Formats: sequence, structure tokens, C-alpha cells
Amino acid sequence: MELGYGPEFHLQDVNGMARWVCSVCDYEYNEEAGDPAAGIPPGTRFEDLPADWRCPECMVGKDAFVRVDEEVEKNGENDL
Ligand SMILES: [Zn+2]
Repeated sequence: MELGYGPEFHLQDVNGMARWVCSVCDYEYNEEAGDPAAGIPPGTRFEDLPADWRCPECMVGKDAFVRVDEEVEKNGENDL
């Protein structure tokens, strides 16, 4: 019996979803949500986007996108 494909695997996949933000216009690409307007189904990883995919807001290429960490950001603490 082979393991490796099942509900758990799928769950793990969803948990690994990340967000990417455009460094030009701050548009956010959410892997979980995809980009339905551009025909990108929900759950599409950024690296799986077509090479010619562009920011829907400012049309820059994938190179201009930066990954956003879901974890606490390390930009320093805000003591305010
Ligand atoms: Zn943009």
C-alpha cells in the first residue's frame, strides 16, 4: 500500500499557501485566492503562474513581486 496521497497531503498543501506583493503598486497576489480575473484558479502557487503573468494593477512581471511571510514580520518592533 502506498501512502503519500490523501487528505493530509492536501491539507499540508493549503497550509503552505503564501502571499506575494507587487513591489511597484502593492497589489497582493494570494496563492489561496488565485487571480480568477486572469484565469488563475484559487490555490495556484506563485511559481506555477505562467511566465507571462503580470500584475493586474501595473502590469509588471513576476520579477517585481516579493513574498510576504505570514509569520510575524521582522521589520523591527513598534513600541507605540
Ligand atoms: Zn503592481
